[in-house]
Parts: sequence; structure tokens; C-alpha cells
Amino acid sequence: MRLVLLGAPGVGKGVQGYLISKEYDIPKISTGDILRQEISENTRLGRKAINFIEKGELVPDEVINKIVEARLKKDDCKKGFLLDGYPRTIPQAEFLLNFLSDEGLKLDAVLNIKLDDSTITNRLSNRRICSKCGKDFNLAVNPPPEDGICPVCGGKIYQREDDRIEVIEERLKVYRSNTKPLVDFFREKGKLFEVDGNGSISEVHKNFVSIINKIKDDI
Ligand SMILES: [Zn+2]
Repeated sequence: MRLVLLGAPGVGKGVQGYLISKEYDIPKISTGDILRQEISENTRLGRKAINFIEKGELVPDEVINKIVEARLKKDDCKKGFLLDGYPRTIPQAEFLLNFLSDEGLKLDAVLNIKLDDSTITNRLSNRRICSKCGKDFNLAVNPPPEDGICPVCGGKIYQREDDRIEVIEERLKVYRSNTKPLVDFFREKGKLFEVDGNGSISEVHKNFVSIINKIKDDI
């Protein structure tokens, strides 16, 4: 399966991506992870990327595309992949489809996790994170210990600035306006599948599995 995963902040994209990659035995590819790795290994691409990041600029499409292309050419992608955080723009999406078609392959589906803004705001504003190991807690369903100390590593648990309600609303607005053209682009190509993001992690995972299995049957 060759998949792209889309979803606003707070819909559980990270964990669902992880579960899908395990279920279908395909690598989960996040451009953020690759960029961090290239930078830490000080590769040519990493040095190119850091030039933009240090200036506070977005890494341009052509650099991101090169990184993705190199990653998708690796052996473990022969059985498929799940892209997370890419493509983010129409030119990136066009690059991906062209690259795959040049390789005689095609993208099977773009999975978009749907969740309404009030549910997302609720989830994110309840989120608390360990400052040391990154473990996350939720005031409603998985509250941190009262002393505010992480039971895993002893780090301090805090609320990210990003997870304050005013910031969340702005992040969602930005996400929706950036992603809408991409969603429309893939819908027009008949690649878009919407997945209901309501429910527990395992319920949402089941929604994914039933949709992916149906797509698989049609291939
Ligand atoms: Zn911790």
C-alpha cells in the first residue's frame, strides 16, 4: 500500500500512522524526522535545509522533494509506505504523483482524518507533556500525577504554549486554509478517503483498517 496520511493537529495522526505502518508492515515516513536526521548526520541535504531553517524560512519544495525521493527509493519502500507530513503543498503533491508514475507505481490512497474543531480544541487544551521524555497526558482521559512529575523519567510535566486555546484556534485556521487545496486536489484525482477520527485510538484504527482493506480489494 502506498498511502498519504492527512489530519489537523490533535486528531491523533501520529499514533494512527504508527499503527497503520505496523498493521500493513510498511515504513512510516515523516519528512520532519528525515530532516532532523539529515541535519544531525550533516549530509549535503541536511546542510542545505539548515540554511533555510536558520533564517527562519520554510525549506523549499525542491529540497523537501529531493529528500522524499531519496527516501522512497530505499528498499524498504518496495512493499509500500505511509507518508506523514508530506505532501504539504500542491507542487509537492504533483511531484509525488509524477515520481511514482515515473517508477511505474501509483499512490493508492490519501487518508484524511476528520474531526470537528471543538473536539480537537478540547483534546489539545487538555494535553500536558513531559518536558524531558515527551510522554503525553490528557487532563480528561489520562491525567498526569498531581505532583506534576513524569512517572517515566521524573521530568516536569507542562502545557505547551501551542496547546493554549487561542493558539490552537489559530493553528487550526492555518491548517485548514493550507490543507484545503491539497484535499481538493486529491479528491479530484479520486484518491481521497475520509476517516472518522472520533472515538478511542483502537476504534479509529478499526475505521482505518476497514477503509484500507476495501481499497486493497479494489486494487
Ligand atoms: Zn518523562
